Amino acid sequence: MKNWEKNVREVVPYVPGEQPKEKDIIKLNTNENPYPPAPGVGRALEKFKTDQLRLYPDPSAEELVEALAKQYRVKTSEVFVGVGSDDVLAMAFLTFFNSGKPILFPDITYSFYDVWAEVFRIPYKTIPLDESFCIRPMDYQVDNGGIIFPNPNAPTGVLLPLEQVEEIIRENSDVVVIVDEAYIDFGGESALPLIQKYENLLVVQTFSKSRSMAGMRIGYAFGNEKIIKYLNDVKYSFNSYTMNQLTIALGKASVKDEAYFRETLDKIVETREWTKKELRKLGFEFEDSMSNFIFATHPKISAKKLFEDLKKEGIYVRHFSRPERICDYLRITIGTWEEMRILIAFLEDYVN
Ligand code: PMP
Repeated sequence: MKNWEKNVREVVPYVPGEQPKEKDIIKLNTNENPYPPAPGVGRALEKFKTDQLRLYPDPSAEELVEALAKQYRVKTSEVFVGVGSDDVLAMAFLTFFNSGKPILFPDITYSFYDVWAEVFRIPYKTIPLDESFCIRPMDYQVDNGGIIFPNPNAPTGVLLPLEQVEEIIRENSDVVVIVDEAYIDFGGESALPLIQKYENLLVVQTFSKSRSMAGMRIGYAFGNEKIIKYLNDVKYSFNSYTMNQLTIALGKASVKDEAYFRETLDKIVETREWTKKELRKLGFEFEDSMSNFIFATHPKISAKKLFEDLKKEGIYVRHFSRPERICDYLRITIGTWEEMRILIAFLEDYVN
């Protein structure tokens, strides 16, 4: 190894789900929304004047922050925005997890958490989920440097009831607790109201799933004024212009269309419940999902083999070979009803 190489910040990067080049596939592998963004987003895109691009964007992304504050009935000073919730979460790790004590997160969870911990040199400890993939709040009552968990959890889809989320926040008032609500709109109760009660709480959400805008990269967080100010101070110390002009304009247009948002969510939830019934009929087993995916296993079928056979049919789902506890599961994103019907028809043949 060369001398300069000894001083490299070496990391094992996060591996995102595959984005296949082929058209005409059924893409159920990265929890995207199968429906287009709100119609107003297209109109805002048409109205966007390219001449504007000469100028730097508003570093505070005020229009987007205002739209979010209005929609969620909070103050603009209680909202932070970033380039997808991945950016928001990374900033939050950097801002709040500096005690030197291990931060805590579940053993089966979003596989970016340990990557951020590694890249920022934050010690961490994983807490096993119980046998039904549930988070036990009691397990988080140990000395720690901060806590993060998704609710519903990913890739399990399991929702922690709000009282239990509150228990974790209440019992850990000396550290920041981040609730990653990437999938909350698909049937969970948000911890957002709790930001008025607990100043150690940060609630993170995204436009990538429920708002069909994964390609635009918008994430946001709610917290009390103080916690948001700390986050912004770190963000401005990195890059003042994370939110570009088009993102701000299209994000704002999306937030305004509440009716379309609800309609899309209802369709996905209805398709999810239908898919659950069909999968159960075929012998698949899974904990109840409150997200836009189902994390399923089958006692007689190898998940890895099924993953590969589905791919040959042009149906992409997600398989995680690690940790070992979940290597026999597939995470299946809820697509359109038509896509799920094709998946189920394939599985009917496969299982029988
Ligand atoms: N949190 C969880 C639990 C996720 O599954 C994802 C999606 N990969 C994210 C955060 C990040 O999503 P985005 O950066 O697209 O907002």
